[in-house]
Amino acid sequence: MSLDGSYDAGNIFAKILRGEMPAVKVYEDEHVLAFMDVFPQAKGHTLVIPKQSSARNFLEEAPDVIGPLMLGVQRVARAVRAALNPDGLVITQFNGAPAGQTVFHLHFHIIPRWEGVPLGRHAQGMADMDELKVLAAEISAKVG
Ligand code: AMP
Repeated sequence: MSLDGSYDAGNIFAKILRGEMPAVKVYEDEHVLAFMDVFPQAKGHTLVIPKQSSARNFLEEAPDVIGPLMLGVQRVARAVRAALNPDGLVITQFNGAPAGQTVFHLHFHIIPRWEGVPLGRHAQGMADMDELKVLAAEISAKVG
């Protein structure tokens, strides 16, 4: 899907928001939901999505959603750091399939990085759900 198109309310993250699909949740407030990526590129790979949104990507998002969303991204990124003590953190976001986007509800990736540990492949290799739940609890405990 290119940058042009319309929001599909049947996308997987919309289903998670409606409670129609499970997610390993890390944090939520009235503006954002954070949950573990089930195909993590690194241990602790977390996604943050806006709740009140029908934007496929960052370019489409309503200005009043951006502020609370970015605060949520920062809050969760700080919790990931506090819980997992990575050497670095990638915070990223893809717009359009040619840019690497595979789910078309706006979302930010928070990916911890450790020296010498290569980044896993994007959206490949499903995680162990029990391990994800442990990580989510560790991160959740550190949300300020
Ligand atoms: P993107 O390619 O930027 O659209 O990222 C979508 C991300 O969602 C990928 O990293 C996938 O691993 C992840 N993903 C896909 N389905 C699910 C799901 N049901 N629960 C959690 N993460 C998912």
